[in-house]
Amino acid sequence: MLETRYYGEFGGAYLPEILVSTFEELAAAFRDARNDAGFWEQYKNMMSTYSCRPTPLTYAENLSAYFGGPQIYIKREDLNHTGAHKANNVMGQGMLVKRMGKRRVIAETGAGQHGVATATMAAKFGLDCAIYMGELDVARQRPNVFWMERLGATVIPVKDGSRTLKDAINAAMRDWAANMDDTHYVLGTACGAHPYPEMVAYFQSIIGQEARRQILHREGRLPARVYACVGGGSNALGIFSGFYDDPTELVGVEAGGEGLDSGQHASRLASAEGTPGIAQGYKTYFLQNKDGQMQETHSVAAGLDYVGVSPILAAMRDDGRIRFEAAMDREVLDAFTLTMEKEGLIPALESAHAFAQAFKEAPDMIPDEIILINQSGRGDKDIFTVADAFSDRQWSRFIITKAEEYGAKLVS
Ligand SMILES: *Cc1c(COP(=O)(O)O)cnc(C)c1O
Repeated sequence: MLETRYYGEFGGAYLPEILVSTFEELAAAFRDARNDAGFWEQYKNMMSTYSCRPTPLTYAENLSAYFGGPQIYIKREDLNHTGAHKANNVMGQGMLVKRMGKRRVIAETGAGQHGVATATMAAKFGLDCAIYMGELDVARQRPNVFWMERLGATVIPVKDGSRTLKDAINAAMRDWAANMDDTHYVLGTACGAHPYPEMVAYFQSIIGQEARRQILHREGRLPARVYACVGGGSNALGIFSGFYDDPTELVGVEAGGEGLDSGQHASRLASAEGTPGIAQGYKTYFLQNKDGQMQETHSVAAGLDYVGVSPILAAMRDDGRIRFEAAMDREVLDAFTLTMEKEGLIPALESAHAFAQAFKEAPDMIPDEIILINQSGRGDKDIFTVADAFSDRQWSRFIITKAEEYGAKLVS
């Protein structure tokens, strides 16, 4: 029997018949692992020796003084191996692949971050790895393609349709249907059919477990608010999970792009435009038109540029446990700059959405309240976007020319 799970009216497992058995196998493996008392210890131990866990909590004293209000703490998921919280999920899934006795993993990737994380995991666990990527994205993300290949993965450019992420998803699903006996599909966020949302949230919960312990150790009290950016929702679910039973307010920040009335954003929960629908195996709020056609989304941060969102977050919006907001590209770049200049930290542009919303609210908060911001990843990858955004044309042209020379040599 196909196991499924709903969060309010969201979630579920809407699958073609051919994939049912492999989802059953995965759900069973996840259930067994979760009930195995040693599994979480083994996971924590692996992450502490391979990916810098526990990641530190940094007190942002200069930003705190600058706003003159709340005490600002930053959870440093950027210090994970490969530069973001994505490592928590892919390494956890790698452990499950081993338990299931499979020998090959596949994934799809748009900007390439999830592809690099998956290829890294495959190298570490001795698995074959194929990464599906739209042909346009392959051209746009040459450094990531280069690293995936050096890590031993096969990068497969997808030439169908618009040659971007959604075509890569379809191609990866076809591969999985043909090879599910020995292949596991490594989904990158807390979306898709059951058990993915629950499983990804489970591995990411290590962030919240650590963060709650760390803030209590340091301050002896809980944060008033926790901020996290929301693409598919995995880093947000990770840090929020530590505080569900506390009076702490949880704030999820989506990509407001050019503004919520511009049609150029990826705000499914904070805007009124997201509507319930079923696609890609699950029910959630999607940005779609009246016929269920998915809309184009936009964000300065590639990792937030997605039409769906975790069904777990959709339910927690509806029951009021999480407040959702949107930060615009312009606000995000300002927050990015302020964080670099005041603290010497380089947040990923995705993470900078959480910073932007926290900074908007900080001046109105009661002094000495604590706020916690999840820095989901590091911003080194965003060098071209940031250079471009600041119209530092000379720099931006220089960097892009260099990248093209480099990329052109690397990918022939
Ligand atoms: C991929 C990514 C995200 C978005 O994914 P979630 O599943 O919403 O966490 C956010 N931040 C960084 C740094 C990312 O790489």
